[in-house]
Amino acid sequence: MNQASITIVGLGPMGRAMAAAYLDAGHRVTVWNRSAGKDGDLVARGAHRAAGITEAVAASDLTVLSLIDVDAMYSALGDTALEGRVLVNLSSDVPDKARKAARWAGARGAAYLTGGVNVPPSGIGQEGSSIFVSGPQEVYEEHRAALDVLAATDYRGADPGYAQLYYQLNMIMFWTAYTGWYQALAVARANGLTAADVLPYAGYTADSMRGFYTHTTPAIDAGDHGGADARLAMCAASVEHVLHTAADSGVDTGILAAHAELYRRAVDAGFGADGTPRLVQLLTQN
Ligand code: NDP
Repeated sequence: MNQASITIVGLGPMGRAMAAAYLDAGHRVTVWNRSAGKDGDLVARGAHRAAGITEAVAASDLTVLSLIDVDAMYSALGDTALEGRVLVNLSSDVPDKARKAARWAGARGAAYLTGGVNVPPSGIGQEGSSIFVSGPQEVYEEHRAALDVLAATDYRGADPGYAQLYYQLNMIMFWTAYTGWYQALAVARANGLTAADVLPYAGYTADSMRGFYTHTTPAIDAGDHGGADARLAMCAASVEHVLHTAADSGVDTGILAAHAELYRRAVDAGFGADGTPRLVQLLTQN
């Protein structure tokens, strides 16, 4: 089978990793970036540097966009002819912008898929990596093999917003956890500990989260607010201890104060004897 030719639009760390993965897999690769100077290593490995965006989009079977957001696509593509082209936008953004972008591309005669990349650039082309994809199923099926070069594609349905919805759900969990890591390290440093001192316990905590997610899922989906293992009144007290440990250490408490406020609100609303699944309802009502 002939391998698809690929154009990569956007050569940040992610776009460069994608172009490199396609070169590794033997695809003909064309690259374009708004500013010059980011494609030297790729061109040295055989990628074609398009003279302009029109040439870039015309050059390949598939154009993969890896940009800061969806709006950057409009500014990158401008009024480039898109009739009959296939665009796969793997840039992060909100689901509604992904849907609007799909309509925009469709009105110009292009087939359009949305995607959310679940790994950092180092994970591109690696076993175990995944990308959410959504959009017309026939377009996905036709180009699946080419997209699987980047990471195993996980098709989330015809709605072009869905790949971004699933992606942003993962990002909610990722960013809160990652910020939690840095918050803990700020408290650690204020108390004379290093990141290396904390790392073994961070690993344990991160690994344990899978168990918490698995344990609470049936209760949440059944509308059961739990409370047998851990009462929200206890959780609120624990979160206050976290907040005051940070405050006593003299570090920023903004994030932890917001956290404590949520748990306090749950108790004030009369949910102190319920478990943490009640928080989904509380947050939904905001
Ligand atoms: P960068 O911010 O490093 O690169 C963004 C790219 O977008 C650059 O090529 C930049 O061009 C281009 N760009 C920004 N604004 C415009 C514009 N107005 N017109 C044209 N081009 C524009 O991002 P990454 O490469 O790190 O990530 C790309 C996408 O992948 C993002 O949506 C990100 O959320 C997602 N992602 C990234 C991960 C990561 O770990 N890096 C992990 C998972 C997803 P220029 O060079 O000219 O500035």
